[in-house]
Formats: sequence, C-alpha cells, structure tokens
Amino acid sequence: MRSVIVIGAGIGGITAATHLAQRGLKVTVLEKNSQAGGRCDRFSRDGHHFDAGPTLMVMPLLYEAEFAALGTTLPDTPELQRVDPTYHLIFDDGSKLALTSDMKSMQEQLESFQPGSFPGLLRYMEEGHRHYHLGMEKLVNHDFRKASDFFKLSNLPLVYQLKPLANHYRNMSAYFDDPRLKAAFTFQDVYMGLSPFEAPATFSMMPYTELAHGVWYPKGGMYSIVEVLTRLAEQAGVEFEFDTVVERIEVNGPQAQGVLLSDGRQIKADAVLANADLPYVYKELLPPTGESERLARKRFSCSVISFFWGVDKPYLQLPPHTLFLADDYRQNFTSIIEDLDLPTNPCLYVHAPARLDPSMAPEGQDTIIAIVPVGHMSENGDQAKHAAERQCGQDWAQIRDTARQHVFRRLKTLGITDLEEHLKFEVNYTPLSWRKRYNLMKGSTHGLCHNLTQLGYFRPHNRHALYHNLYFVGASTHPGTGMPTAMVSGRLAAERMIDELQIN
Ligand SMILES: Cc1cc2nc3c(=O)[nH]c(=O)nc-3n(C[C@H](O)[C@H](O)[C@H](O)COP(=O)(O)OP(=O)(O)OC[C@H]3O[C@@H](n4cnc5c(N)ncnc54)[C@H](O)[C@@H]3O)c2cc1C
Repeated sequence: MRSVIVIGAGIGGITAATHLAQRGLKVTVLEKNSQAGGRCDRFSRDGHHFDAGPTLMVMPLLYEAEFAALGTTLPDTPELQRVDPTYHLIFDDGSKLALTSDMKSMQEQLESFQPGSFPGLLRYMEEGHRHYHLGMEKLVNHDFRKASDFFKLSNLPLVYQLKPLANHYRNMSAYFDDPRLKAAFTFQDVYMGLSPFEAPATFSMMPYTELAHGVWYPKGGMYSIVEVLTRLAEQAGVEFEFDTVVERIEVNGPQAQGVLLSDGRQIKADAVLANADLPYVYKELLPPTGESERLARKRFSCSVISFFWGVDKPYLQLPPHTLFLADDYRQNFTSIIEDLDLPTNPCLYVHAPARLDPSMAPEGQDTIIAIVPVGHMSENGDQAKHAAERQCGQDWAQIRDTARQHVFRRLKTLGITDLEEHLKFEVNYTPLSWRKRYNLMKGSTHGLCHNLTQLGYFRPHNRHALYHNLYFVGASTHPGTGMPTAMVSGRLAAERMIDELQIN
C-alpha cells in the first residue's frame, strides 16, 4: 500500500488526507499541536468556549460541494443555523446598519443612509452573483497545473466579466455615493488580506454570498466542523499523530523521501503533502533555495490581535457579529497594509457566540471575542525568540494594550461601559502568537494575500516544481484562504496526487 505523510492537521490537510485514504492510500497526519484544526482552533476555560480563529461560516454552497466530494452531505450534526442579520455595522457617527437578507429591511435602512440607494444594492448584488458563480467555476474550483490552463482564449472574457482589473472601492461609485455604504459592502476584502482600495472588484462575490447564501453558525461553534472532518478522516483510515513536530522534509534528487521529526524519528513515505503554511515550509522544512527568499518578499495578508474574554454577566445588547467601521476607512487600510501598524481609529469586530448557542458561556455569564486587524510582523524574526514581544520596531505588548482600549471605547457606543470590571479572565493572541502556534510566516493570519499577482495561476501551486511527489495544501496555496476554500485546496491537491502517482 502506498503511503503519504501529511504535515499539519489544518482544514486543508485533513480534507486532502481523507480523499487520499478513501482512494486506498495509507495516510498519516503529523501535527505539532495537541489537536486538529490548525487556525480553526478551539479552547475552553471555566465553562467559556472560544473559537480561536474562524467565527463565520460563509460560502455554504462550497461547504456543501466539498462535503459531497467527501461522500457525505453537509452533516445535520453539527446543527446549523442561519445568522440573520449577518453583521450589525456601527459607524463612527453612531449610525447603524444591520446587513440582512430581508430586502424590505435593507431597503428601509439603505434609504435612510442615502435616498435612492436601494436599487444600487440590487445592481451590486447582480454583479456579485456573476462574480461569485464565475469565480467559483473558473478560479476557485479550477486547478492550474500548467500555464495553458489559465492563459487560454476561452478565459479572455473573464477580464470583463470578473472585473479583475477594476478597483473594488472605486467600482463602488457605480452603486453608492455614501462612504458608509461603500464601506459596508467592501470590508470583507480584509478576509483576503486586501484593502478595498487595491482589491479587484471581483471580490464583490463576498458580500454577495453573505447576503444571498447566508452566514451560518454550527452549534458548538466553528470547531464542530473540524470534529466532523476529523471523524470522516478517521473513518477513511487516516491516522493522526499529535504533538509531533516535523523538522525537515527529506529529499533526494527530484524526490521527497519522507520527514525527519524533532524527536529524531525518520518516517519514509511515497509522497509528502505539506499543509503547514507554504512560505514556512520553504523556509524551515526544505533545503535552502532562492524560492524561499522569493516567497518571503511576496505580499502577506494582515494579522489580527484577538481578545478572548470570559465575563461574569451577559451583555445581551451585543449581537452575534458586530463590526465597528471607522470614517477614516482608507487610512485604516493604509496603516495596516502599508505601515504594518495599528490604525489610530481601527475598524474592529466583536463576536458574542452565546447569542447563537447559549452553551458557549456558563448560564448568566458571557463569552466575548474581539478581533482587531493589524499589520503583520515586519519580519518573520527568529523562531527561537518567540518570547520577545518587541521585534523589528513593533512593540506587540504595547500595540495589544492600545487595541484593547479601542475595543472598550467602541463598545461604549452600545452602552457597554463596565466590561473591564466584569472580566473573569482574558486570553489574547498577537501576531507573535499566530506565528508560534501555527508557524504562520510573519504572523499573517490569512497567509499570502490575494492580490492579482498572487491569484489563480500566479498563486503557489499545489505541487512543488522540482520534487514531483511533494504537494502543498492550505491558505497560502491555490485557491486561497478561508475554511471552505481550504477544503477545495485539499481536494485539488489530492486529485493531483492521485493522477500523478497513477493511483487507480
Ligand atoms: C483570526 C482568524 C479568523 C478567521 N476567520 C475565518 C472565518 O470566519 N471564516 C473562514 O472561512 N475562514 C476564516 N479564517 C481563515 C481560515 O481559518 C483558514 O484559511 C483555514 O483554516 C486555513 O487552513 P489550512 O488548511 O491552511 O491549515 P492551517 O490552519 O494553516 O493548519 C496547518 C497546520 O499545520 C501545523 N504545522 C505547522 N508546522 C508544522 C510542523 N513543522 N510539524 C507539524 N505540524 C505543523 C499547524 O500547527 C497547523 O495545525 C480565519 C483565520 C484566522 C486566523
């Protein structure tokens, strides 16, 4: 039986492992942490349960398709509920907008922002619908193994149909005048690690799918999806080894031969599939080549500072997903993306999972997560110096403390003035934590960003160019970041391996 080593039990790694095991391969997943999920992580404390990474189940059609490809339906367990309104947006001037699929409500709300703006939303949704469906078919679900898969005559109309050369924010002028509305339907670009002021207009697909297909929440939180995937993997015969650090991928000529572990063990395999962040794999696990430096110079997505709070009373005025958007929207992105800093008035996101699933907090108490986007680490730094909080001019302890004060300040607009007094405990993650926990290069939470030169054929492929039995999967590879996208990446990498290793 042919064997495969998978490095990392992130969403992409587990998905690929399951596809491969279902095709009869002996698959072992080696994971440095003590549980599966990677960035889609979970921890609990004193009866408070926290999703450490993703909190939004978006693009449900993609989940459905990927679960179907694994031979199952999007399972009833975990129980899914649609979150509607998806987000409650709060602007600097105190105005509020609840994004909902209830078009009557959207009409009333939008007209109060900018009279006559509702038809703009309908036209924007039409464009988003086109971008979503074409984007999924031609960019996301498509494997670009060779240049001619991408640069072909039949793809030429995509330049007009998907607006990759148009700027997303500028494109908004065709639909809205009010800057708050332009922000309300472009902030999702940050999920791609991009500023709307540089993102292609193609990404109108994100606000479209959120309104049209919904934002969902699995009972027990996003980690329930990891549990379902892990169960499927185990049923297919995948073996997991946790607390197991891969130190090196062993190569010989054009072949990967297996891995060397930090405990000195050597494991041989017919193929290796790396789910750890791709720039990290080139830098730390493979023999040094120019490719590693070339990747380090690529554009990385931003990072985030996350606060996880257990509080001793419920804050029922806090909806499930609240987004505070700043008037100086452009400056926000300039600070994060160009200056690698914390904006002076940051946009930020607050999640209250107990509004959706009361079991996420002890009765009469609350569980709150606040996420503040910041620039990534200016340099990856020395892995051995994880403890150093001040690196390359970025004082993360100080940046974190400032970010925390911004969250408290913003919550006051919802009448929440006493949160600090009711904190039972705080856990927080800075870019240093993201790097340390998951080996994410520069602490960048979404990996390589999704600008035009890092998309489609230009994004790192799912196989190494030289080592023909070394495959890649996950956020920094094709097709890109996001949980369902990582599942697509897992399937594409597995399909390629099956084709190329001629597994019947
Ligand atoms: C804060 C945050 C919020 C997010 N919000 C959302 C959201 O709401 N919705 C959404 O769809 N997506 C969201 N995402 C994105 C989503 O979480 C990721 O795109 C997806 O989980 C990436 O999966 P992956 O396959 O790349 O694997 P990763 O998550 O990168 O997992 C890779 C695994 O490899 C392991 N590893 C690394 N090095 C080694 C080694 N040397 N030896 C052994 N193991 C190793 C790591 O520990 C890790 O478990 C969010 C991400 C973050 C960080």
